[in-house]
Amino acid sequence: MKAHEMTLAQAIDALDKKEISSVELTQALLNRIDEEEPKVRALNCVCRDTALMQAAESDARRAKGEAKSALDGIPAIVKDNICTEGIPTTCSSRMLQNFVPPYDAHVIELLKKQGVITLAKSNLDEFAMGSSTENSAFAITANPWDLNSVPGGSSGGSAAAVSAMYAPMALGSDTGGSIRQPAAYCGVVGIKPTYGAVSRYGLVAFASSLDQIGPFARTVEDAAISLNAICGHDHRDSTSMNLAHPDYTQGIKDGVKGMKIGLPKEYFGEGLDKDVKDAIMKAARAFEKLGAAVEETTLPTFDYALAAYYIISSAEATSNLSRYDGVKYGYRAKHYDGIVDMYIQTRNEGFGAEVKRRLMLGNYVLSSGYYDAYYLKALKERTLIKRDFDALFEKYDCILSPTAPAPAFKIGEKSDPMQMYLTDIYTVPVNIAGLAAMSLPCGLSPEGLPIGLQLIAKPLGEPAMLRAAYALEQEFPPLGEPSFAGGEQ
Ligand code: GLN
Repeated sequence: MKAHEMTLAQAIDALDKKEISSVELTQALLNRIDEEEPKVRALNCVCRDTALMQAAESDARRAKGEAKSALDGIPAIVKDNICTEGIPTTCSSRMLQNFVPPYDAHVIELLKKQGVITLAKSNLDEFAMGSSTENSAFAITANPWDLNSVPGGSSGGSAAAVSAMYAPMALGSDTGGSIRQPAAYCGVVGIKPTYGAVSRYGLVAFASSLDQIGPFARTVEDAAISLNAICGHDHRDSTSMNLAHPDYTQGIKDGVKGMKIGLPKEYFGEGLDKDVKDAIMKAARAFEKLGAAVEETTLPTFDYALAAYYIISSAEATSNLSRYDGVKYGYRAKHYDGIVDMYIQTRNEGFGAEVKRRLMLGNYVLSSGYYDAYYLKALKERTLIKRDFDALFEKYDCILSPTAPAPAFKIGEKSDPMQMYLTDIYTVPVNIAGLAAMSLPCGLSPEGLPIGLQLIAKPLGEPAMLRAAYALEQEFPPLGEPSFAGGEQ
């Protein structure tokens, strides 16, 4: 097996047995990046020298028997909206193009403590607003399974990078589906942890009540290992849960006998691609074969979720992005006439079209006269959606659904924002309700594009969710090397 093909578990094992050094692994991944990146364009920055230096340090520690953790020497890719000290963190925006954070996000502190190496920062939709990674100010990332299709978004760079085997693990952020939807499109595993399980400190805020950092990997076990590495309490995030997280790899192989899985009919309605539906139903039958009880159920408030999400997330974004005013840090317009004009020109030049759309929408729904009609109503819907899920989790251990209505679409295909927003229809309810969820591959469409399946669990229900995912993975094995089909030529 080539080094870049190793899963995270295999790489951990090989490092432990000294079958490979961290420098060799890191170099192999850098070579892989050099080979595939011109086609995929998943990365904003490759930390070549620092990664190799840290790999050498890791090897020296291991040689002395002083490895910081089992993950010591593993290279990881980090979405470029997660602050990394001394490494640019751009959010794929002109606004932060030259921003080099003076501090690490909590997840990066945790990874460093375990000896994990930041190999590269990955491309995203500007400020994580989007579903295709076409909204980046720098590049459009391609899907490794079809270079003419999008990788999904907003964490499209991380998903494409793990799929293209640049690294065995990556971090993304998920506000309304930005880990799960690109994981589905790129044929990898992606977890949106329970809200509060992973600290948001150092994640550039989009919508604070919805944002959550989570991992990408190529197997369920690898995703569980990665989740272990980033969970934990942090006093600098007031919504971080102060509790001991279990070892998420424990019990994942215990099977699904006796488990109850619900299939809400709203997730299988109009707009769902037939191939995706067939794949999910096949998975449902596989669960039954494995000993789980699968039952159709209902989530009556499902229809409100997408509207509520775009109102709440845009309202919060309006507040969070008010800090980019050209004064303290970030981009400042070159030409302006007085301070008010400086704000206007800076924000006009610094933000792209989608970010501006969200800011206008957010300001509109928060303005007096519209607040009650939109924002307050969305908050009420949020409560109702949460209640619906609470009722479902009285009966079911997990909810099974498609991750997205269809496989990846072509670059440039969705010019209407509403069409783009509809790709999140199955993922946003989870963020609205603060639940745990993940996407895992369940086959390829006739066109050779990955299809993703979503498992949803109650808050802190990750162990049951991972157990179900692992069981299913035995029936639907990881997709392996992507085809890199298509492209310009
Ligand atoms: N696609 C959704 C949006 O554009 C979700 C983004 C996200 O999860 N960061 O808002």
